[in-house]
Amino acid sequence: MRIEVSSGSDLKFDKLLFATGSRARSLRLDAHSETPGLYSLRTLDDCVALQGAISPGAQVIIIGGGLIGCELATTIQKMGAKAIILETANELLLRVLGKTIGSWCREELEAIGVEVHTGVSITHVDLDPSFREVRCGDGRRFSGDLAIVSVGAEPVTALAEHAGLACARGIIVNSVGMASSDTVYAAGDVASWPLRSGGRRSLETYLNSQNQAAVAAGAMLGKGEPAPQVPISWTEIAGHRIQMMGEVTGPGDVVTRVDPGGTGMTVCRLNGGELQSAVSIDQSADFSFASKIIERRMLVDAESIRDPLIRMKDIFKLAAKTVA
Ligand SMILES: Cc1cc2nc3c(=O)[nH]c(=O)nc-3n(C[C@H](O)[C@H](O)[C@H](O)COP(=O)(O)OP(=O)(O)OC[C@H]3O[C@@H](n4cnc5c(N)ncnc54)[C@H](O)[C@@H]3O)c2cc1C
Repeated sequence: MRIEVSSGSDLKFDKLLFATGSRARSLRLDAHSETPGLYSLRTLDDCVALQGAISPGAQVIIIGGGLIGCELATTIQKMGAKAIILETANELLLRVLGKTIGSWCREELEAIGVEVHTGVSITHVDLDPSFREVRCGDGRRFSGDLAIVSVGAEPVTALAEHAGLACARGIIVNSVGMASSDTVYAAGDVASWPLRSGGRRSLETYLNSQNQAAVAAGAMLGKGEPAPQVPISWTEIAGHRIQMMGEVTGPGDVVTRVDPGGTGMTVCRLNGGELQSAVSIDQSADFSFASKIIERRMLVDAESIRDPLIRMKDIFKLAAKTVA
């Protein structure tokens, strides 16, 4: 077994790990065309190009209101420019953070001057160098000095597909990272890894990528411990630290725990007494215990979670006696 590298030499291997990550998804306005000339944010070069292009007073259109779009909007406002987010869904951040936190973040972004438009379907982007305009299906038009596309990521699987490995929005691996050939492994954004809650996908987070890398490395050395993943991530939006763990959407009840000081909250999903997900805004202490409860599959009481006067640390201690 061997791989070819661009210098022309061949490398032999006994085991191979794909860690080729993902790339920014481009805006496809129809099935056959991509729109060149738009900015995106994935690499250091992208970052430097954006820094050079955004000046105070500039009007910047961001296509896509997910994590990166909202982080970008925050930074653009800090730079003294104006961010306009255009999002297809009827709320920001729906996929990763859910409706409650998405709507809270929209209000916080609007409070720092970001203009947010949801339910927008983009049909045309005009990239004339002196004037850039985005046209929408309902006739609305938005103009700006530059437009950034932040509509998600795509795993970089071309090499793996060429090698004949099974891929479907990522290299399909088992819960130790082994691909459809037992000599090949994948970890990080490029891997479609099994989830603890069922199903599989590329998780696109640092902590899951690091965990998968350690598990796959162990398995390649014959010490693989199955590790179905629980998504875990964080972000900073409009000056707030947001941490998240688990699958935000799914069966059960959503319970919101509001900080009595009014400075933050934790939104949890519970199903059958088990905490399935927690998203915290400026509540790092609560989050650190909530994440342990999720990780260890402990049973908790919804009313205790809802009551901010009961410390999450105490809920954790009590729950430590039960395992789902
Ligand atoms: C703007 C931005 C902000 C983010 N913020 C957060 C955050 O706050 N929290 C969080 O948890 N996650 C965040 N992420 C996601 C996080 O960066 C990724 O989940 C993580 O980097 C994935 O690691 P990886 O090693 O799988 O892939 P990458 O970090 O993408 O590394 C893949 C590497 O493989 C190289 N490569 C690709 N193809 C080849 C090839 N054929 N030959 C050789 N090399 C190749 C690439 O050049 C790249 O260096 C963010 C991502 C972006 C883009």
